Amino acid sequence: MILRRYRFYILKYCLFIFFLFFINTLSGQKNDSDHLSIFRKKVNQILVESDSLNRQRFFRVEPDTNFTWEKYAAFLKKISDTSKYIVLPLNEFRKTFDNKKIVIGLRHDIDNDLNLAYKFSDIEYKLGFRATYFVLHTAPYYLANSNNMEVHSDRIIPILKKMQDERHFEIGWHNDLVTLQVVYNINPVTFLHNELNWLRSNGINIVGTASHGSNYCKVYHYLNFYFFEECTFPARPNFDNNITVPVGGRNIKLIKGKLKDFGLQYEAYFLNNNKYFSDASITNGIRWNIGMLDLNQLHPGDRVNILLHPIHWHKGSVSANIESFSLPGQRACIIDTLNSTVSVEMPYGINKDSLIASYILSPGAYAKSGGKMQVSNITSHNYNFPLTFKVYAENRSVQKIWTINVYSEKRPSCDFLSFTIPGVTKSVVINASRKSILVEVNESANLKRLPVKFDLSQGVTAWIGPDKQFSNSGTVNFSGNVNYRVVSEDGVDSCIWTVTVRKAKF
Ligand SMILES: [Zn+2]
Repeated sequence: MILRRYRFYILKYCLFIFFLFFINTLSGQKNDSDHLSIFRKKVNQILVESDSLNRQRFFRVEPDTNFTWEKYAAFLKKISDTSKYIVLPLNEFRKTFDNKKIVIGLRHDIDNDLNLAYKFSDIEYKLGFRATYFVLHTAPYYLANSNNMEVHSDRIIPILKKMQDERHFEIGWHNDLVTLQVVYNINPVTFLHNELNWLRSNGINIVGTASHGSNYCKVYHYLNFYFFEECTFPARPNFDNNITVPVGGRNIKLIKGKLKDFGLQYEAYFLNNNKYFSDASITNGIRWNIGMLDLNQLHPGDRVNILLHPIHWHKGSVSANIESFSLPGQRACIIDTLNSTVSVEMPYGINKDSLIASYILSPGAYAKSGGKMQVSNITSHNYNFPLTFKVYAENRSVQKIWTINVYSEKRPSCDFLSFTIPGVTKSVVINASRKSILVEVNESANLKRLPVKFDLSQGVTAWIGPDKQFSNSGTVNFSGNVNYRVVSEDGVDSCIWTVTVRKAKF
């Protein structure tokens, strides 16, 4: 099952399709004649919002990674005011009505990583929140053998029980049943009965199901909730047939069941909410994140369904480093992480009044200087004085003060800029740090009498013994190594260059 490997990646796309699809459904517009126009309007709104986000991201006005556990915790703290919000798992959400408050249902599709979902649920638990976690029966953790979709693993029971019994979260069924039938040729009715019996006999009380956006949905054009007879609409391109699925040149007739036949009471995409937000939606390359939810746009009486996938979230990094730094034309740069300093050497005499640095910070970190947000390759500074960068780690609670020192020293120059034996040079290697030059010449060259052409910096002179050397004047005996003394313009500094001339080998 090679395709299974890619399910995780394609999942994102499928869930986005779901989001677009249900943004209308979930706002209670079932079978409405304005169905499509409302759909478009909402999509347009999202596009406009994300355009402005795109711009923000480009200029990095508030650069960050939006999917840290810390950010989710910060969001939960914002909705912890019980005089304004009621936050519930979905089964309680659908039965709870309050016109004076904003009622929020928290849904999480566990998808491929149960351990990560459990860690994610820590955030809610510690802050006194509860949510619904939908367990996926085609995920590796659910199966005893990842190649056999029919045999579950008992290992998941203790984790699910802990979430349900100790944390009072709701566990739901993340439905990938049409995939089972179409791709694995497994009878979904028998399977669902067996699995729900197993889970319930282990004390896991499942009353809700949520359709999973498998990669196969895109390949074969179906939605998993087509399994349930109650979930038959709406029509949309590529997903317009909930009766048959064409596979390998033949139409497979979908096997269906009723929610109540399995003791199920709701499908999470068919709830009584008027607002819906999901981190499965990606617009213009940007995944919707919780920071995009403007709580001011929610009003008493609103019923809000929020779907977050723990697999998209991570613990914020605590690194607040400058990992690389460069100024245009710099000679050298040393980053001292221990002392949080950056030392940059610039060429002597260069104007440092307004330079734009290019740098990389720790992942997810951002920097401010003088209270202003810094942007690599955009923000300019006067580097005649030490500059302070305050770097905020991705988790935002760790900050580090960095000092950037830019200096330039007058370095005496005693270098050859070029060196050649006219007419016979095959190759030249000038090694400025070793002060050596290696010239390869034609077989025909007479090493004892070779003319030399070279370039030196302005005012610099070259000597062999007591004799001043001039480019393209006279000859030099290169039968052995020849030492040149190169003297800087001020006559104070000098260095010895060793020139080796040899015949090229063929
Ligand atoms: Zn899913």
